[in-house]
Amino acid sequence: MAKTLHQPLGGNQMPRFGGPATMMRLPAKPNPKGLDACFIGVPFDIGTSNRAGTRHGPRQIRAESCLIRPYNMATRAAPFDSLSVADVGDVAINTYSIAKSMTIIERAYDRVLKANCVPLTMGGDHTIVLPILRAMRKKHGPLGLVHVDAHADINDTMFGERIAHGTPFRRCVEEGLLDGKRCVQIGLRATGYAADDFDWSRQLGFRVVQAEECWHRSLAPLMADVREQVKGGPVYLSFDIDGLDPSCAPGTGTPEIAGLTLPQGIEVIRGCRGLNLVGCDLVEVSPPYDPSGNTALVAANLLYEMLCVLPGVAYRA
Ligand code: MN
Ligand code: MN
Repeated sequence: MAKTLHQPLGGNQMPRFGGPATMMRLPAKPNPKGLDACFIGVPFDIGTSNRAGTRHGPRQIRAESCLIRPYNMATRAAPFDSLSVADVGDVAINTYSIAKSMTIIERAYDRVLKANCVPLTMGGDHTIVLPILRAMRKKHGPLGLVHVDAHADINDTMFGERIAHGTPFRRCVEEGLLDGKRCVQIGLRATGYAADDFDWSRQLGFRVVQAEECWHRSLAPLMADVREQVKGGPVYLSFDIDGLDPSCAPGTGTPEIAGLTLPQGIEVIRGCRGLNLVGCDLVEVSPPYDPSGNTALVAANLLYEMLCVLPGVAYRA
C-alpha cells in the first residue's frame, strides 16, 4: 500500500492565524497507523519543582508553529516529501496522579511505536521522558541518548518522591533503558546540591558537557564527536528548553543563566543527522511564563529541526 504524504496547510490556502491549531498545520490523525513520524503532546506539569505551567506547552507550541514552512532553507531537508507525518494529538494524562499518568503515557507510546511511527513529543515537564523511554526500550533495546538541559535530572528523589522532573534519567539508568556509554548530556550548569552532582552520570560512562565548555564556540565539532560516541544503535534526543539561555527561552519552570545560544541548540539537533534517531522530545515550555510566545516559537522550530534529521528524510540538491 502506497503511503499517504501529508503537507502542512499552506499560508495561501488559509491564513496562518486561522483554522484549528495542529503542529505545523498538519492534519490531525489520532491513529498513528500509516505514519512514519508524528507530533504528539503530553500536557503534563505535576512533576515540576518550581514554576508550573508546562501542561499548556503542547497547545502553545502548536499555536506558534503556524508560521513554519515545509522546506529547511539551511539544510535543504524536505521532510514532508518522503515521510508521512501528522499530529496525533495529546496523551490524556491523569493530572491528579503522577503514577497513573506514567502508565497512561507508556501505553500511548506503545501504540505509536507498534505502528512503526517515530514520535516527536511536545512536553510537558521532563518527567514524561521516563514512560516514553520505558516504551522505547521494549521496542528497541537500550538506547543511546543526546540530552540537552541545564540540569542532569539524575536526582534520586525529590521530596522523597522517586518520580519527578529532576529524577527521570536516574530511573532510566536503574531500569536499564539506556546504554550508558552512548549517552551525552549537554548544557549542564548553574548551582547544585553538592559540587559533584554531575559526576554520577560521568561514572556511568555518560559524556557530560557543561555549558562553560560550549560558551563562545560552534558546537559542530562537539557533535562530530558525539555522533562517534552514540552511533551503532538506536538514539533518543531529549531537549529540555532550559538548556538554552533564558534570553532566548525565558518561558520555563527552572531557568538558569548563561546557557546555550539558539544557534548552538540548532547545531546540536542538526548534528544528530545520520544517527538512528528513534524518537525526540522538546520539554519544559511553560506558556504562563512566556507572554510573548517566543519560547514556544523556539520550541516549535526546534521540533521541526528534529523532524528534519530523522532517518529517511529527503534532502534536495
Ligand atoms: Mn530536564
Ligand atoms: Mn532543566
